[in-house]
Amino acid sequence: MNVKSETVASAKNGAPPGTPGGRENLLGMNVPELERLFQALGEKPYRGRQVAEWIYARGTATFDSMSNLPAPLRARLAEEFSIGVLDERTRRETPDRRTRKVGFEIPGGGIIESVFMSTPSRYTFCLSSQHGCAFACRFCATGRMGRGRNLTAAEIVEQAFRLRQELPPGRSEYNIVMMGMGEPLENYEAVVDALTLLSDPAGMAVPPKRITLSTVGLAPQIVRLADQGLRFRLAVSLHAATDAQRSKLMPVNRRFPLEQLMRAIRHHAERTGRRVTFEYILLEDLNDSVADAARLVKLVAQLPCKINLIPYNPIGPGKFKRPSPERIERFANYLRPRVPAVTVRYSQGVEIGAACGQLAGDTEGRT
Ligand code: SAH
Repeated sequence: MNVKSETVASAKNGAPPGTPGGRENLLGMNVPELERLFQALGEKPYRGRQVAEWIYARGTATFDSMSNLPAPLRARLAEEFSIGVLDERTRRETPDRRTRKVGFEIPGGGIIESVFMSTPSRYTFCLSSQHGCAFACRFCATGRMGRGRNLTAAEIVEQAFRLRQELPPGRSEYNIVMMGMGEPLENYEAVVDALTLLSDPAGMAVPPKRITLSTVGLAPQIVRLADQGLRFRLAVSLHAATDAQRSKLMPVNRRFPLEQLMRAIRHHAERTGRRVTFEYILLEDLNDSVADAARLVKLVAQLPCKINLIPYNPIGPGKFKRPSPERIERFANYLRPRVPAVTVRYSQGVEIGAACGQLAGDTEGRT
């Protein structure tokens, strides 16, 4: 590989050691980065824009099909570069194929999972931001894996690139949710770079309002997102309305208690003009009483928000239980007239271990 091109590939896009064949990965570079790369290769910079269009707009995965590039250049690119680094290793699909969980091996080892979800009206891709997770939320299978490595921006973008290949012909619109394995705001730079490229009109061109980032509640990073003027949607995993209850379920609450978290969220809502989504897992006899609902209403009062109630998805033996439909309805009915919006979200793909909280790649936690 030529020395110049190595310096051009920025650290954030360069695949970590272990990239197959040691070839540099182009999927994940934006147009200016590709232009500089081609210039460094002694080519015209506009080749960078052409390659970006093949990869991001058309979803091309081989240099050979880039028909507006001269054949010798295509051959050289195929020799020195790759388009992506993820290897599909596992796949589980529901019988109706509406939910598909794909396990990708990442450079350096380990499996991350991405989920393709569809309803008659829309497609949603659920992407991972880390291999494993250090936050140890008690109800989450990924949390049992412990800390793994941060994914690169390129590895995050590639998950969307790969899931896009699953869309039926003629369909090109989809939503992205950063709700797979890992805590996106702990991998801040790579996630922001990835979402920037995903929403770049010269990248994957997904409108920012179709992209949601979900966090355990890292207050300082929520403020940082808002102050950077990033207009992706924000979802916060709340799950409890008191510090005592939340700290038991989510150890992160001891670092960023509710008051600090709510202040950060308010700041985000004011700066972005977007309403926040609160995720609230319903756990029988733990946080699903009417008194819990009343505390929740008080906590989110005056905030432009939506509450997504997620009935707990089993992740193997443990003390948590999904409440009965009656208890779920009672909770939702208490909220409905008192908060701006409420939905009860029965996760898709529970039977294939693809639902919220069930992603654990190659380790335990599978159902
Ligand atoms: N770390 C981020 C991104 C993961 S999003 C976050 O916590 O927001 C995954 C969502 O599924 C989170 O709201 C998480 O709290 C929720 N979840 C985790 N385990 C679950 C389970 N067993 N049942 C239902 N939802 C679960």
